[in-house]
Amino acid sequence: MSKLRFRVVETAFKKKAVEVPVPAERPAEYFAKYVFNRAKMFKYLPSKVYEKLVDAIDNGSPLDRSIADDIAAGMKKWAIEMGVTHYTHWFHPLTEGTAEKHDAFVEHDGKGGMMEEFSGKLLVQQEPDASSFPNGGIRNTFEARGYSAWDPSSPAFIIDDTLCIPTIFIAYTGESLDYKAPLLKALRAVDKAAVDVCRYFNPDVKKVVAYLGWEQEYFLVDEGLYAARPDLLLTGRTLMGHDSAKNQQLEDHYFGAIPTRVAAFMKDLEIESLKLGIPVKTRHNEVAPNQFELAPIYEECNLAVDHNMLIMAVMRKVSRRHGFRVLLHEKPFKGVNGSGKHNNWSLGTDTGILLMAPGKTPEDNLRFITFVVNTLMAVYRHNGVLKASISSATNAHRLGANEAPPAIISSFLGKQLSQVLKHIEESTKDDLISLSGKQGLKLDIPQIPELLIDNTDRNRTSPFAFTGNRFEFRAVGSEANCSSAMIALNAALAEQLVKFKKDVDTLVEKGEPKISAILEIIRSYVKECKAIHFDGNGYSDEWKVEAAKRGLDCETSVPVIFDNYLKPESIAMFEGTGVLTKVELEARNEVKWETYTKKIQIEARVLGDLAMNHITPVATQYQTNLIDNVYKMKDLFPGEKSTRLSAKNLELIEEISDRTAYIKEHVDAMVEARKVANKIESEREKAIVYHDQIVPMLEAIRYHIDKLELIVDDQMWTLPKYRELLFIR
Ligand code: ADP
Ligand code: MG
Repeated sequence: MSKLRFRVVETAFKKKAVEVPVPAERPAEYFAKYVFNRAKMFKYLPSKVYEKLVDAIDNGSPLDRSIADDIAAGMKKWAIEMGVTHYTHWFHPLTEGTAEKHDAFVEHDGKGGMMEEFSGKLLVQQEPDASSFPNGGIRNTFEARGYSAWDPSSPAFIIDDTLCIPTIFIAYTGESLDYKAPLLKALRAVDKAAVDVCRYFNPDVKKVVAYLGWEQEYFLVDEGLYAARPDLLLTGRTLMGHDSAKNQQLEDHYFGAIPTRVAAFMKDLEIESLKLGIPVKTRHNEVAPNQFELAPIYEECNLAVDHNMLIMAVMRKVSRRHGFRVLLHEKPFKGVNGSGKHNNWSLGTDTGILLMAPGKTPEDNLRFITFVVNTLMAVYRHNGVLKASISSATNAHRLGANEAPPAIISSFLGKQLSQVLKHIEESTKDDLISLSGKQGLKLDIPQIPELLIDNTDRNRTSPFAFTGNRFEFRAVGSEANCSSAMIALNAALAEQLVKFKKDVDTLVEKGEPKISAILEIIRSYVKECKAIHFDGNGYSDEWKVEAAKRGLDCETSVPVIFDNYLKPESIAMFEGTGVLTKVELEARNEVKWETYTKKIQIEARVLGDLAMNHITPVATQYQTNLIDNVYKMKDLFPGEKSTRLSAKNLELIEEISDRTAYIKEHVDAMVEARKVANKIESEREKAIVYHDQIVPMLEAIRYHIDKLELIVDDQMWTLPKYRELLFIR
């Protein structure tokens, strides 16, 4: 066997679980130990300052610059007690990760010594030397400045020796260069619009919060095996590898016993996460071998997004302590399930009501239906944008590839809710008016059974499913920043709720009683957005045909899907809600196209290299052995007999020649195609060419490599195989 492969497989096989030191305290005691949460704010800040900060966090009231110094001083005191020496503004640029630049607290003390300093100015605003973050041309070189600004709504936390301060990242000209700034704007927009609608039902509502509970799927691979796979190392996925004879067919991994090495990793990860205030709750095996899932209790959306970004970083770090690498790529292995990140999303009021959950009274249920139907309308009207919000070069392997959700956004409602909507749709206006009656609410919306709350009627093929008290946006990629999906969804709903209020108020002004006006508008919406509602099998071919007939966006090319952001109705939606301007949308699309191209470009290079310096040489060497054997057979059995005895080997010799020739030709052709594509000026056009021409070549070359893997002597094959990557832990 190839020496390296043999060694890493053997080492991986023998590895034992790492002992995880368990804290002496109970989880409730060490929870949020490293977070500057309210308890710490209370302890370390003067009471006036504490009150102002809490008011800013809860109600978005502007923070007086003058108290920033007091906050910084309190934060610094706490951080230094915790052994911290550095601080950083922590932000989410338009890449997949987070960015940070660490500065020490030290300053000159003016007396030739040093002192530890952290002022309000440093807390509130920084200017990261950041001209190399993706910006889509917003910051051209003469104005290559951007700054990060503190987001008080997400608490500061400590990683190792560094105090991390969550911030937004914007250009000097005001455009956002990150995910957080537009997310906060979208959350504010949906808050305001939803409060206005809530007041139809309860005048006391002052604030509506969007919640997010993400479920993070991931793979673990032994570190040694990972290091022996340049494709995993450089692209996050295997660009070649034949199916393992056994993979997920037996369905024996899902919810099975967690292997001990993995269990140790999970335990370690959970302790670290809890210390960072991430309320992790659920862990289990996923469908594919070596695939797992982690989910916290849901939180306010902005905080949940930060926690997801943070946990992905923590996962990467902790996995290495256990001799693993964590794969967050959406499709690390062909032929087994990919990874997603279900985004469980709902809205709740400051009066303690979950708006997407049915209640006990007719009023509650009318409110519930109002929010569900408006959500459907938003998803219907902006289904293209929602798809664009979750599309990427990596997630493309899941969407539309006969697994996970299809590349068409539709919503599953389940039997009971579907019946309720059908009932509303079929009622005439007079029915509705008589139902609502003069005495107020006497709605004949069939009592929505409480059972609905524990909706077990799950349809796993739906990208946007109602699950009892929330919607579950399942098309989000495992590696993605959830913000992208949450920006689109919350902004679309905000726009829709404003429209709803306007529509209802217009009827009320014409003399219609409020309740019947609401019902009337809801009824018209149910009809209008019917196309988005689909409870059937989203993977079926019939659905693709049907969805196209319904006018839903069925585009599968990722670079073209991005066009959705620039359609007039999308720009109107994002600008109308104050979430993103046209300039920002254009710049972001430039970044998306460029990123798409780069990802495929890297894959093409890595595949080309591996094909030429790992696969072809080994196949040729094996072929030489076969040829040698054929000649020797000829010596041993002269004449006819040797031809007969060598028939199989001659076939193999030919097959290897054919396949290696194909590989070589196509690697060359791929290089040429890239050279041509790289000259294209427009990022959009370039990405389209990469999608249309390069991606199919990757697949075609891979096909022949995988075939060679099946016939070449296993002892000579250098790259760890699927059966090793997926089953050894
Ligand atoms: P599943 O059966 O889909 O795995 P879970 O019960 O594990 O569902 O929940 C998945 C996620 O949904 C968790 O993060 C959970 O906290 C979250 N969740 C539950 N209710 C809501 C809600 N109303 N809004 C947002 N997220 C929620
Ligand atoms: Mg779920």
